[in-house]
Amino acid sequence: MVDYPFLLEELKRILKEKQLKFTAQRELVLKALYEHEGHHSPEEIHRLIQESSPDAKVGIATVYRTLSLLEEEGLADSISFGTEGKRYEIGLKKHHDHLICIRCGKIIEFFDDTIEKRQEEVAKRFDFEMTDHTMKIIGICKECRDNEAK
Ligand SMILES: [Zn+2]
Ligand SMILES: [Zn+2]
Repeated sequence: MVDYPFLLEELKRILKEKQLKFTAQRELVLKALYEHEGHHSPEEIHRLIQESSPDAKVGIATVYRTLSLLEEEGLADSISFGTEGKRYEIGLKKHHDHLICIRCGKIIEFFDDTIEKRQEEVAKRFDFEMTDHTMKIIGICKECRDNEAK
């Protein structure tokens, strides 16, 4: 996992490049994402910031805009979550894919060598230069199934 000072320097560089101001509010979005492992909706990120920095007055619009910017620049990744929109996680993590529970919203990360290799082979078969991929397994987690069986 990348360290926070590196991410912060990247954010500063990106904002400068885009001629946007570096603000405490923007940094708080990055920090919240970094400090809270996992996959969060913009609303959750907003709530986390309000809890940790109530005086910073970070609006939900700033959270949305900053998350988009971070994603565009690779400092955040997102997975779309049905009609509920996107969940964000810190970027530059080791590549992984996701299992998503449609009942409780749990997201489990996994990495599977065979799946990775097969995707490369498929791309090759179509003479397709793969730059990225998204792999989501949608279903119902064990806990939710156990609860339903009760
Ligand atoms: Zn579940
Ligand atoms: Zn993930």
